[in-house]
Amino acid sequence: MLIRTQLRFLLATFSLGLLSVSIAEDSPSHTTVDPSIIPADLANNAILLRERALLDSLSIDIVESLTTEVGPRRIGTDGDIRAIAWAQAKFKELGFDRVWTEEVPVEHGWIRGDAEAEILAPFQQNLVLTALGYSVGTDGDLVAEIVEFPTFDDLLAVPEGDSLEGKIAYVSYSMADYVPPPGTSAMGGYGQGTRARGQGHVAAAKRGAAALVIRSVGTDNNRIGHTGSGYGYEEGVKKIPYAALSAPDAILMQNMLRRGKPVTMRLNLTSQITGPIVGANVIGEITGREGSDDYLVLGAHLDSWDEGTGAIDDGAGVGSMIAAAAMIGDMEGRPRRSIRVLLFGGEEIGLIGVREYARAHAAEIDAHILGAEVDSGGGRIHTLTSGVGDRSIATVREMAKLIAPLGIAWSPANDALGASDMSVLGRAGMPALNFGQNSNDYFMYHHTPNDTFDKIIPEDMRYLTAAYATIFYLAAEMDIDFRQ
Ligand SMILES: [Zn+2]
Repeated sequence: MLIRTQLRFLLATFSLGLLSVSIAEDSPSHTTVDPSIIPADLANNAILLRERALLDSLSIDIVESLTTEVGPRRIGTDGDIRAIAWAQAKFKELGFDRVWTEEVPVEHGWIRGDAEAEILAPFQQNLVLTALGYSVGTDGDLVAEIVEFPTFDDLLAVPEGDSLEGKIAYVSYSMADYVPPPGTSAMGGYGQGTRARGQGHVAAAKRGAAALVIRSVGTDNNRIGHTGSGYGYEEGVKKIPYAALSAPDAILMQNMLRRGKPVTMRLNLTSQITGPIVGANVIGEITGREGSDDYLVLGAHLDSWDEGTGAIDDGAGVGSMIAAAAMIGDMEGRPRRSIRVLLFGGEEIGLIGVREYARAHAAEIDAHILGAEVDSGGGRIHTLTSGVGDRSIATVREMAKLIAPLGIAWSPANDALGASDMSVLGRAGMPALNFGQNSNDYFMYHHTPNDTFDKIIPEDMRYLTAAYATIFYLAAEMDIDFRQ
């Protein structure tokens, strides 16, 4: 602790040296900040913090700690219980003033079990696939013919009934082949892929299918499946198993199907749905010096999928959000406003933790004066978009000038609702910021055994953390009601 403080002091001193240089060199971006909106001393402090964050490894150290000391942490598992204890200890170690947990009850837990598959005909070949979250098992070998649907809409186009009786519905949609329309991002391909991943099993069951298999939703060509969650089973609809094929095996499947002969698959999943479980949201607060009634919220999700160690999803969010708040807390005095870091449980199984949070805090949504979340990996930010009251737009535009040297553009759209969990609070009326992030590599690793600490790029994590620290420091110090 002492060593950390001394190191921080040295870094801060060193940064002061950089500051005089960077102001001279970056003078256009600095001097154009309107002092009637952001006072000069505050702008200078923000630059100091930004430069210090670019030299600080705290965000990376936190991801290293979480992935090494905890690892996989799917809600309700032993790993999740350890993660909840880890997060509380980490907040306290870093000097957060208040640390607490709030329970997240979940109707069912889930045991992954084993996932095994092979093509039996026309040519025997083994396949690599992974069970999708909350799938039931196959109760022994399930042998059935594959019926391919290029997209989820093609499956939906089949009238409900029994036309897929005794068949495995296979949605071959490839996120890797998705070409974003001009002005949009790869997220569109992810959104498309998650429709079949989330609802395909119900749609297939309504047409009589014995199981659903999809091509993994990802952009890599590794021979591993990408897991992810279904949105649960529907009352009165048969519960069928569902799984995701690795990309190379999805291509093998295409080649089998192209030959025009029936393709038969053997599928064996030993997954099980269990009784109720309880997770938790973990909250750490840097209490503001003026004890104001409103506070800023920085979000990430603490839970992860169970096959990797959850480094990019969402260790990167946990690391950058805790580090940004801790660095703001380390500025002289305390920030004027309180900053809460909300580490949600159960994001991966359907934003369960934040929904519980929104329910429990419904009466104080107005106290959440500004929020943002990192849940797209550890890449750098390229765009800042606000979702604030009309009168606050000019303030955010001036704040954005102080992160422009990090390669971040300001977007005038003002339609942000907050990313991932935070969108639930954004929709409930909380002013939000969206930090558009480079997530080019994200969908190669996420929800796979390859989501591990080595995928964190230290320099990018520093840039990521610096962007949030700078903006939220300004938001904490300035007397702005972002709802107006
Ligand atoms: Zn995530």
